[in-house]
Amino acid sequence: MENQKGQVIVVAYPAQGHINPLLQFAKRLASKGVKTTLATTPYTIKSIYAPTVRIETISDGYNQSGFNQAPSLAAYLDSFKTVGSKTLAELILKLNASAGSPPVSCIVYDSLFPWALDVAKEFKIYGAVFLTVSASVCSMFWRVVNRGPSLLMLQETDDDRGLVNMPGLPPLAPSELPSLLSQPESETQSPYLAVILEKFSKLEENDWVFCNSFQELESELLDEMLGLWPLVMVGPMVPSAYLDQQMEGDIAYGASLWEPKADQCMKWLEEKTLKSVVYVSFGSMAEIAAKQVEEIAWGLKASGLNFLWVVKDPEEKLPDEFLESVGQAGLVVPWCNQLEVLGHRSVGCFVTHGGWNSTLEGLSLGVPMVVMPQWSDQPTNAKFVELWGVGVRVKKNEEGIVSRDEIEMCLREVMGGERSGEIKRNALKWREAAKRSVSVGGNSDDNINEFVAKLSMPKE
Ligand code: UDP
Repeated sequence: MENQKGQVIVVAYPAQGHINPLLQFAKRLASKGVKTTLATTPYTIKSIYAPTVRIETISDGYNQSGFNQAPSLAAYLDSFKTVGSKTLAELILKLNASAGSPPVSCIVYDSLFPWALDVAKEFKIYGAVFLTVSASVCSMFWRVVNRGPSLLMLQETDDDRGLVNMPGLPPLAPSELPSLLSQPESETQSPYLAVILEKFSKLEENDWVFCNSFQELESELLDEMLGLWPLVMVGPMVPSAYLDQQMEGDIAYGASLWEPKADQCMKWLEEKTLKSVVYVSFGSMAEIAAKQVEEIAWGLKASGLNFLWVVKDPEEKLPDEFLESVGQAGLVVPWCNQLEVLGHRSVGCFVTHGGWNSTLEGLSLGVPMVVMPQWSDQPTNAKFVELWGVGVRVKKNEEGIVSRDEIEMCLREVMGGERSGEIKRNALKWREAAKRSVSVGGNSDDNINEFVAKLSMPKE
C-alpha cells in the first residue's frame, strides 16, 4: 500500500515558525500511508522528534549554527541555494537507492527555498511550495510582483478614506499591510523584501501551492485567486490532538529549538481557575525593546490577572521591582510548549505578536487574543483577528509604544469587558471550523487526500 503512494521529501527552513507547520504536514502525509522524509539542517535535526517521519539532513553551507554565522540574510540564503540544491539532489539519490521504498515523487519545500523547484524539475518529479503565512498576505506580495517594479503602487488608492483595496481582501490602511510593503525602503526590511519577492515570482510553476490556512477562514480571497495559482488550503497545521482536545499519545509538533519548561508551566496552570490566565508570547524571533517590555509588565500587573509570560532573557529584560512583586499571580519562563499552554483550561487570553502560527494556534484552540504586532505579516494578521471577531489589536501611542494603560484596557476588554462574550463565542465558532477543516470530510483533509492520490501517478 505504502509503495503505491510514492515518496515525499518535505524541506523545512530551520526556524521554529517554519519547522512546526512543515513537520506537521509531513506527519499528516505519513499518517495517510505516504513515505515521508523531512529534510532540514544538521543543527536543527537534534531538536526534532517525529517517529513516523524519516529525518534527513541537507546543508545550508554553515553547518554549526547556520544563520547566526552568516554575514547577512541574503548571504545565508545564497549559500543555502548553492549547497542546499546539491545536498537535496544527493538526498534524492540516496532515498531512491534505498531498498523497499518507492522512488521520491515530490518535493514539498518551504517558500524561502524557490531553488527546490528546480531540483524537482531536474528529477522530473512534482514540486510543491508550502506557504507558512496566510493566503491573504501571499496574495499581496504576488500582486506586487505582478504589477511591476513600484512597490508603492500597491498603496495607491482611489479610496477617499486612504485605504488600500485589493481583490478578495478587506480595505486595509497602509499600516495594516505587511511591514515589508508598508515600509519597503527601511534598512532592516529591504534585504528581506528581495527574498520575499523572488519567492512569489514563480508560484504558478508549482504543481501545488500549499497554504497553512483553511478555506472558511479566507474564502473570499480564495474565490479571487481561483485559477491564478494552484492554491490548495491544507491547514491549520495544528496537531489534531489539540483540535480534538484529546491530549493523549504523541501530540506535540515534535520540534523545539529551545528547551520548554513544560512541567513547570503545567504545574502552575493546574493551580489556576478556569480561563483566569493570560498567556503572553511574542514567538521565536521578535526582539521587544526594553521600554516596551516594561510597559507590558506593568500593564499585566495592573490588570490583576494571572499571567504566564515567555521571555527568553527575563533577568535582562524585566524590571527587578516587577519580578519581585509577581508572586503566585505570574510565571515567567524562557520557553514553553505553546500548544500545551493554549490548550489548558486555565488559559483565557493570548497576548501574541500575531505570527501566523501563533494566530492560527490561538484561533484553532479557541483562545481570545490581544494582538501586539511587531513587523512582517503581523500587522495584517492582527487586522484579521479583529475581523474574525476573536480578539482586539493594541494601539500605539505617539512615541510608538503600547502603553501599560492600553494593555490593561485590552486585557479587560477580552477577559470580561462588554465585547468579551461575543469574542468568546466567535473564538468557539472558529475553533469548530478549524477542527472541521482537518477532520475526515473537511476541506483541508480532502485536499490532502487528493494530493496523496495524485502522488502515485507519474508527472507528465
Ligand atoms: N512557540 C513555542 N513556545 C514558545 C513560543 C512559541 O512552542 O514559548 C511556538 C509557537 O507554538 C509557534 C512558533 O513557536 O508554532 C512561533 O511561530 P510564529 O509564526 O507564531 O512566530 P515566529 O516565531 O515565526 O515569529
